[in-house]
Amino acid sequence: MVIEKWSPVTGEKLGEFPIASAEEVEEAVARARAAAPGWRETPLERRLELLMKAKAIIIDEGSEIARQISEDTGKPLVDSLMTELMQVPLFLDYYAKTAGKVLARKKIRTPILFPGKASYIEHYPVGVVAVISPWNFPFQLAVVPMFSALIAGNCVLLKPSEVTPITGQLIDELVARLGLPEGVCQVLHGDGSTGAALTRADVDKIFFTGSVATGKKVMKAAAEKPIPVELELGGKDAMIVCHDAPLKRAAKAAVWGGLINCGQMCTSVERLFVVESVYERFKRELEREVAKIKVGGPDEDADMGPITFPPQLETIERHIEDAVEKGATLLRGGSRIKDRDGQFFEPTVLEGIAPGMEIYDEETFGPVLPIIKVKDEEEALRMANQHKYGLTGSVWTRDRKRGLELASRMECGQAMVNDVVLSVGNPVLPFGGVKSSGFGRYHGPEGLLSFTHQKAIMVERAYLDSEPFWFPYRGKLPTMEKIFTHLLEGNLPAAVVNLLKLRG
Ligand code: NDP
Repeated sequence: MVIEKWSPVTGEKLGEFPIASAEEVEEAVARARAAAPGWRETPLERRLELLMKAKAIIIDEGSEIARQISEDTGKPLVDSLMTELMQVPLFLDYYAKTAGKVLARKKIRTPILFPGKASYIEHYPVGVVAVISPWNFPFQLAVVPMFSALIAGNCVLLKPSEVTPITGQLIDELVARLGLPEGVCQVLHGDGSTGAALTRADVDKIFFTGSVATGKKVMKAAAEKPIPVELELGGKDAMIVCHDAPLKRAAKAAVWGGLINCGQMCTSVERLFVVESVYERFKRELEREVAKIKVGGPDEDADMGPITFPPQLETIERHIEDAVEKGATLLRGGSRIKDRDGQFFEPTVLEGIAPGMEIYDEETFGPVLPIIKVKDEEEALRMANQHKYGLTGSVWTRDRKRGLELASRMECGQAMVNDVVLSVGNPVLPFGGVKSSGFGRYHGPEGLLSFTHQKAIMVERAYLDSEPFWFPYRGKLPTMEKIFTHLLEGNLPAAVVNLLKLRG
């Protein structure tokens, strides 16, 4: 059995790729387990030095790597460069600067009631981490968590998606050139069965990015052991256009945020709430912008490529059909582009969208902008929050204070004011979802900490024979009662004086 890869742009067969069996997965995990103690003990500076070689390779060969990602996915070269490749050096640089501090042992102030003690918090790697990644951003959604886990001192097994095996191969080749010790970082090519085998294998954490349906299976497998799991799942992101929004910018942002990567993005704009006082003006701007979108393959200098994963076309068509049947109006697009090869779909705009339609309730993951007219911002916020997903959101207003207030009230992992999508690429900010969009955070300091166990350490600095709370209790009750009362009254100094009396 092999994976057959077909071009989303031309429909031609691009190659065949191997599928790792369950036995091969177990052998790889055993290699990782054997390598884990050595990698954990490797100084952070050395780990970073090895991984930083990836940055040099990306700088030297970025255009060719981007070309291969675009061949695999169909996305424009600009997207492969800026939203896939660029992320990796950006995060590497950020962690090269911050990892030492983030991962260092920290001394914490010890409460006065613990005289003579010192308190510390430290982090140590979880061990062997499974990273399972999707096809929509097959490079960065695999490499960023993989490198984060490696920097934090873990060995990693990456299972890329069968839908984008060229990028999986590319990552494998990149890893091979870093000179990492045997077993530290391995790429397991394969399909869902390989992913499932990896979740059953002897790993210490699973970092999963993908659909809710598979995320639930991954969580079930993790629960069997039990081991920690992080789920980065889908979204139905809301964009709220307020009465005082900068309309031109908001319209351009909606089009970019909804159609980038052909809408195959967890953080793409999937519900566009517009208040009625600016609705018609905004709609005109939006339609003008959508009309400018050029659809085509990576060699055609286009804005929007094809759908990468063929079954996704059916989901998009079903959502549009269901919406129109239930009363929505199709303003633009709505169909596959049939007069050329490949999996191309028209940029689509619909209005009259409401809860109860699949296009409102479920993730569409396609080049579709569903507009919802609302009375005011409060109605928009209520609707935005009454949804099972909670990944990203944005608010558009010239009143920055109000914008921040509305962003704070959005039920999601990250929200932006007068911007869209971009926070996911900001290395200093944590990223993740709430509700059905998953849980756990990576990027920012959390991107390293989430691949560690936190450990509390307390050190006694004197060498006394005994402690006040230790046995024997005989004769201690009156002083303990005083300590107890002083503590309740908030008289800490008096409590400590009595404590020291007992300590002798
Ligand atoms: P899937 O859930 O189909 O697949 C994700 C990964 O899981 C793939 O590598 C897949 O392998 C693998 N897999 C499949 N079955 C199993 C299994 N039983 N056990 C373990 N692993 C398995 O997601 P998609 O690839 O279709 O990705 C699209 C989804 O990802 C969308 O919902 C999107 O919103 C979400 N996503 C979330 C992001 C976030 O950061 N929150 C970012 C990007 C996407 P294979 O493909 O080979 O079958």
